[in-house]
Amino acid sequence: MNTFQFINPAKILFGRGQVAKIKDEIPEYGRRILLLYGGGSIKKNGLYDQVTRALSEIPGAHVVELSGVEPNPRLTTVNKGIELIKQNDLDFILAVGGGSVIDCAKAIAVGVHYEGDVWDIVTNKAIPTKAVPIGTVLTISATGSEMNGGSVITNWAENDKRFFVSNHTFPKFSVLDPEITASVPKDQTVYGIVDIMSHVFEQYFHDSSKAPLQERFGESILQTTMEAAPKLIDDLHHFEYREVIMLNGTFALNGILSMGIEADWATHMIEHAVSAVHDIPHGGGLAILFPNWMEFVAAKKPVKVAQLGIRVFGIEAENRKDSDLAAETIRKLREFWSSLGAPSKLSDYGINDSEIDLMAERAMVAETIGNYVPLTKKDVESILRNSI
Ligand code: NAP
Ligand code: FE
Repeated sequence: MNTFQFINPAKILFGRGQVAKIKDEIPEYGRRILLLYGGGSIKKNGLYDQVTRALSEIPGAHVVELSGVEPNPRLTTVNKGIELIKQNDLDFILAVGGGSVIDCAKAIAVGVHYEGDVWDIVTNKAIPTKAVPIGTVLTISATGSEMNGGSVITNWAENDKRFFVSNHTFPKFSVLDPEITASVPKDQTVYGIVDIMSHVFEQYFHDSSKAPLQERFGESILQTTMEAAPKLIDDLHHFEYREVIMLNGTFALNGILSMGIEADWATHMIEHAVSAVHDIPHGGGLAILFPNWMEFVAAKKPVKVAQLGIRVFGIEAENRKDSDLAAETIRKLREFWSSLGAPSKLSDYGINDSEIDLMAERAMVAETIGNYVPLTKKDVESILRNSI
């Protein structure tokens, strides 16, 4: 293992009825609150009423709302939030939503304390030193943003989608009530499951074989997710399956899987580039790209793909070559995601090969991306071409 430091200060309030507890959590940090949410799902499922009721029970609370955070949150919305906080002298952000709302909150939180353009922080040209405290009420299981310091923001004018990570943007607390996720429609539920599994993959594919605990943590997240997912897709309101997926999503990207290893993240970078140009759902893009990435790297280094197949997909290893096992693993992964209803080709979203060059360029945030097999721009173009 590499040397590492591990920190995760996010407090998790898990289970039914926990939303009411925000009234006890928030006053420690502030009473002038920016209530941030998305396109309105929280008004339809009653969560908005639960949240505003709890906020009204905080003595002296002053609440300013900003709604309309887009899926794939945009820089323009981040800037609106920064302005609102400055104009109204707010001191706390409550993000009620999925990864998009939470990520937007994190960028607002650091942007308030930065004199320049917050895009400098998102593109890692400036390092945040301070943030407005954030609390979250998670509404969809997918990103893990509720228990990490990462944020992904789209600059739509530039067709660029980038991420930053900071210890200052860990939520102070996150409410995880699986019941809230019962209203997530089937397609978004599937995208979330794909994102959760993809986060494990990104941290599973690394060169070191000396992180057995982290590997087994990852495998158990994959196994329990794959057990619950088909049952949940058949019964979207089932509390226990929602509960399993919710906890798995949070633990897939809260830092424990990447302790002491170099995670890969190339597929996420390629997906960010695809959604920066075509604005497709993150999990939908990953469902298409990950098997193609695996195919590309397995041609050079099949060992870890084979291990995944043996340990998670139950593939028999006896007298078989790694390359053969890897091919079967990828086939089984494709079958599994297709059985849930995930897309398998970029053309499912109407994307053709006309913008491969732009997407590959946007994915290349460095000379090469990824660590398991470092990818050049040509490699990325090839993965994108195979994904059409
Ligand atoms: P999302 O973009 O936050 O939400 C997707 C859709 O689901 C929205 O239309 C939303 O509608 C709807 N929705 C959410 N909760 C719902 C509920 N309870 N009932 C009904 N509909 C609901 O999805 P996400 O997958 O969580 O976030 C994706 C973003 O996070 C992408 O930008 C991705 O790149 C990023 N990401 C971040 C990290 C990280 O660590 N920070 C990791 C991976 C990906 P409303 O808008 O109406 O609420
Ligand atoms: Fe993701």
